[in-house]
Amino acid sequence: MRIGIPLESRVGETRIAATAETVKKYIAAGHEVIVQAGAGDRAAQPDAAFTAVGARIGTAADAFGADLVLKVRSPSPEEIALMKPGTALVGMLEPFNADGIAALAAAGITAFALEAAPRTTRAQSLDVLSSQANIAGYKAVLLAAGVYGRMMPMFMTAAGTVKAARVLVLGAGVAGLQAIATAKRLGAVVEASDVRPAVKEQIESLGAKFVDVPYETDEEREIAQGVGGYARPMPASWMTRQAAAVAERLKASDIAITTALIPGRKAPTLITESMVQAMRPGSVVLDMAVEQGGNCEISELNQVVVKHGVSIVGIPNLAATVPADASSLYARNVADFLKLVITKEGTLHINREDDIVAACLVAADGQVQRKG
Ligand code: NAD
Repeated sequence: MRIGIPLESRVGETRIAATAETVKKYIAAGHEVIVQAGAGDRAAQPDAAFTAVGARIGTAADAFGADLVLKVRSPSPEEIALMKPGTALVGMLEPFNADGIAALAAAGITAFALEAAPRTTRAQSLDVLSSQANIAGYKAVLLAAGVYGRMMPMFMTAAGTVKAARVLVLGAGVAGLQAIATAKRLGAVVEASDVRPAVKEQIESLGAKFVDVPYETDEEREIAQGVGGYARPMPASWMTRQAAAVAERLKASDIAITTALIPGRKAPTLITESMVQAMRPGSVVLDMAVEQGGNCEISELNQVVVKHGVSIVGIPNLAATVPADASSLYARNVADFLKLVITKEGTLHINREDDIVAACLVAADGQVQRKG
């Protein structure tokens, strides 16, 4: 099969869907690989690294003209036009973006959106949300520490003692747990909150304090369990009590990192403008959910702004700011997914009985593939 690796054209996207390591494996399995010139430059994967393992360097039309196209982000309309009907496409294709998926289906593309994979043990090695969120959670803390005008660890010096920074992490999924671990490594005092009760133990095992917002009704307790590991929108009663707890904790925090997401919906608002106003001058809010509408009411996409004396960081797609490692992990996720859809003979085979394949398949035979 001919596999194409295009250069990612979306603004700010630095990653690539294959590395010399994974391309070498594809070629060893008998495939032909065409990499668009310069596609890996930003991720420390120069063209020479690909030619050294047997790939060919070509144009965008060559890469998109392959039988199987490996992408990081969904293709633009111009890129879709370069793909012939029947092309297979694997990437982070935004399964909740109905118009985007419909455009792929209309172009006759067989599309697999890797974000839709179930969060099961078998799917772990191809879980792109985890591999990228882990990196983003790490980088979020480094970015916040860079903006913060004080130190993270406690320092005892001849000139006096510097207090450790207090970090509040809201949302303790993959990104949040990595943010907790990174802030702890830098010496901060960390506390964290989530809707799902299962994370209390994980937060505490990292040495952080769990900010508890107890459930008062069976309905709250039931919704908080989430579905498939994901959160669901909590009832207003719980959100009001959570807001009071967050407001209280924010007053004592120097840095807040917010990661709360609910799949397919706008991110929940956890930090209002008045809460920011009550924070200490020089504090930092880093809103990792800024692309999904934001957890902080006054964060601005692509901006670092200072409001009420607080720096509010709204830089999206943090995994792309660590392009080399983010690409290495993503490329391995893609290679692991391909094992499920490419036969030993090197042809595409869609086994709809496989729960991972069925979940990721979003377009085939000219139709959007609807689940459930
Ligand atoms: P996510 O990015 O969808 O959301 C981030 C976090 O925000 C979640 O922990 C969610 O509960 C939380 N959140 C939502 N609303 C909130 C609110 N109002 N206040 C506070 N927090 C709120 O989540 P994710 O990082 O993709 O993780 C989703 C789940 O998948 C987790 O349970 C994770 O442990 C699980 N997971 C399982 C596997 C596996 O078993 N293979 C792999 C990876 C992740």
